[in-house]
Amino acid sequence: MTQRLRISSINKDQINQPVSLNGWVRTRRDSKGITFIQLYDGSNQNGIQVVADEVLKNYQEITKLSTGASLVIHGKVVESPAKGQDFEIHAAEIEVIGDSAGDQYPLQKKGHTLEFLREIAHLRPRTNTLGAVFRIRNTLSWAIHSFFQQRNFLYVQTPIITANDAEGAGEMFRVTALNLENLPCDSQGKVNYEEDFFGTDVSLTVSGQLGAEVFALAFTDVYTFGPTFRAEKSNTSRHLAEFWMIEPEMAFMDLRGILSLTEDFLKYVIGECLEKHEHELAFLQKMYEPDLLETLKHIHQTEFETLTYTEAIDILQKSGESFEFPLKWGLGLQSEHERFLTEKHVKKPINLINYPKEIKAFYMKQNDDEKTVAAMDVLFPRLGEIVGGSQREDSLEMLSARMKEHGLLNDTYDWYLDLRRFGTVPHSGFGLGFERLVQFVSGMKNIRDVIPFPRVPGNANF
Ligand code: ATP
Ligand code: MN
Repeated sequence: MTQRLRISSINKDQINQPVSLNGWVRTRRDSKGITFIQLYDGSNQNGIQVVADEVLKNYQEITKLSTGASLVIHGKVVESPAKGQDFEIHAAEIEVIGDSAGDQYPLQKKGHTLEFLREIAHLRPRTNTLGAVFRIRNTLSWAIHSFFQQRNFLYVQTPIITANDAEGAGEMFRVTALNLENLPCDSQGKVNYEEDFFGTDVSLTVSGQLGAEVFALAFTDVYTFGPTFRAEKSNTSRHLAEFWMIEPEMAFMDLRGILSLTEDFLKYVIGECLEKHEHELAFLQKMYEPDLLETLKHIHQTEFETLTYTEAIDILQKSGESFEFPLKWGLGLQSEHERFLTEKHVKKPINLINYPKEIKAFYMKQNDDEKTVAAMDVLFPRLGEIVGGSQREDSLEMLSARMKEHGLLNDTYDWYLDLRRFGTVPHSGFGLGFERLVQFVSGMKNIRDVIPFPRVPGNANF
C-alpha cells in the first residue's frame, strides 16, 4: 500500500518502498530524457529531488512545469547518488494539481531581496529563507511551552483589551466602539467614554505582567505567551506594533532566582534549535549571518556574567570608546553601550542588574540604597537587550508611594495594590519579546522577516 508521507519523514526504512508525496516545485531541470524536480512541502529545508523520465505518460507536461506548481508524486524511495542528499524519489506517476502561470509567478529561481518579499507577504512563506525562519519559530514556541511545563508553571492567558498601561509609557492603541464621525462630547469637547462599549477608555495591552502577577500569587509559578501591542512610532529593525511576549512570573522568588531561571530558559530554547535545525541554521548562516552557529553555541555553553548598572557605567566610561549617545549614571543605556559590554568587554551574555529607579517601571522593587531597583536586563551580542525583568515591589507602602509619583494611584489600579494587602510575597518575572528571540536565533537582521504579517507604522497589509 502507498503511504502519504511528509518529505522530512523519509528515512532508510522506506528504501524501495512505494510512497506518495505532495508538494510544490522549487526548481526543475531537464537533461536527455530525464527531469529533476526539487520538491518541497515545508517540512524540511532542502525538500527532495524527484527524478522523472520520459516513460511517464505525461512527460511532455512535466518538462514544462514551472516553479510553484503543485504536484502529487507516486514513486519509490531510493538512495541518492547526488551530493548533499540521502534519498530521492523515482517517480512512477506525477499528477499536476495546480499550474503556477510560468513567469508570472512572482517567486522565481533567481532569488529576491527581503524587501521585495515583504511586499508579497502572502507568497514569501514558500521561500527557503522564510521556510527556515518559520520552522525555527515553531520550534521556539514549542520549546518555550515545554520549558515552563516541565517546571510546573501554569500557562495563563491575560486579556488583550485593558484599561491599564503596564509600562506607563502611553504608547497604546485605543479600542473603541464609538462612532468616530459622531463622538459623544461634553461641553469642553472631551470625549465621554462612559458612552463607549466598556463605559471607560480602553486600549490593547502592552504587557500581560500585571495579570500574571495576580496568577503568580495564586499558582506560584505562571507564564503568559500572547500578543502585545505598542503604538511606538519607532520605525526600526527591532520594533513591531504587534508582537508576542513571554512573561513568566514566580512567587517566593527574588532577583537572583529569576536570573538563573532566565539563563536556563534561554539556553534551553537555543539548545532545542541547535539540535533540530542543523540545516536551517546552516542555510541562514550562509545567507545572512556568518557567525550564527558560533554565537548560538557559545551562548548555549557559557555561563552568563552578572554586572550591576553602576559597574557597567564605570566600564563604559573607562573604555576609551567614543559612543554616539551620552553616558552618565542615571541615563538609560543604548544598544551601542549594551553591545560594547557583551561583545567586546566580557564577550559573554550579561545579566545587568540594579538600575537607577528613575529609568525603570514603577512596579520594580527598590533596593536598600534607595537609588536603584532590583531590575535585570539580559544583554546578548548582536542585539543588546533581549530580556527585561525585575523583582516586584511587594511592600504596600513603597508601591503606593511609587504609584503616587507616577500619577497611578487611582481606582484602575487598586486591585493591583490588593496583591500587597493580602498575603504579599517577594515575586519576580521577566518579559521577552518573542520575535526578538526568533530574530536572534535565525540571524535575521529585520524583525519584519520573522513574523507572518508585520504590523509597523504605515503598514498593516495582508
Ligand atoms: P526597547 O527599548 O527595545 O523598545 P522596551 O524597553 O520598550 O524595549 P520592555 O517594555 O522591557 O521593552 O518589553 C519587554 C520585551 O519586549 C523587550 O525586552 C523586547 O524583547 C520586547 N519588545 C518591546 N517592544 C517591542 C516591539 N515594539 N517589538 C518587538 N518586541 C518588543
Ligand atoms: Mn520600547
